[in-house]
Amino acid sequence: GANKSKYKRILLKLSGEALTGDAEFGIDPKVLDRMALEIGQLVGIGVQVGIVVGGGNLFRGAALHEAGMDRVTGDHMGMLATVMNALAMRDALERSNIRSRVMSAIPMSGVVEHYERRTGIRYLTAGDVVLFSAGTGNPFFTTDSAACLRGIEIDADVVLKATKVDGVFDKDPARHPDASQYDHLTYDEVLDQKLGVMDLTAICLVRDHDMPVRVFNMNKPGALLNLVMGGKEGTLIDR
Ligand code: UDP
Repeated sequence: GANKSKYKRILLKLSGEALTGDAEFGIDPKVLDRMALEIGQLVGIGVQVGIVVGGGNLFRGAALHEAGMDRVTGDHMGMLATVMNALAMRDALERSNIRSRVMSAIPMSGVVEHYERRTGIRYLTAGDVVLFSAGTGNPFFTTDSAACLRGIEIDADVVLKATKVDGVFDKDPARHPDASQYDHLTYDEVLDQKLGVMDLTAICLVRDHDMPVRVFNMNKPGALLNLVMGGKEGTLIDR
């Protein structure tokens, strides 16, 4: 029909910073509401949506470590930050009448469910949005790696990495007005040209498992729906 989407199941990666919006720190509920609207449009056309949220708006292990804290403790704090973001996102989704669940890689009985792959897939199949929180559950990883890992585990059709810019550029578009955007890159081009799209662990994981990644601009209204409908949007990374 007219509503035929290109993807049946997606894994959307939202960075923590994206949730800050115009706020000074933390979470801007207005941003969450706008994202909920866009995610709701996907659910409305029958797309199954898994989400991995970052925590960089609250804590980053590496930054805490630079300030003198033990790295693993900092990473634990970073992972807990992603759970807070996921709770805020669930709240926004539920207020928009979009059924959603939070699962955590770190057991947190009474607050959120412990991550379990088969249960997560069952929720997705039932049409619930599933927020995979606490990253991979391990220090020294990032939520980009968690997004790639969960995307592969739940057999998503694509990992969609939301950013503040339109895609992957040959140089920083914020500083170079003549920067040009790539429509397509291979995993090896990303690695060889050190394009810094995601950390190496994440890129190697998607490369080993042939999981396509699309980098797109979440601040551009309608971009998410457009790309899920097969429109030209962002930069595709695959084999
Ligand atoms: N983190 C971790 N293991 C993971 C994912 C995240 O230890 O599997 C910690 C790490 O300290 C990281 C923080 O959680 O800095 C927040 O995640 P990230 O920096 O990826 O968030 P984003 O940049 O997407 O907001």
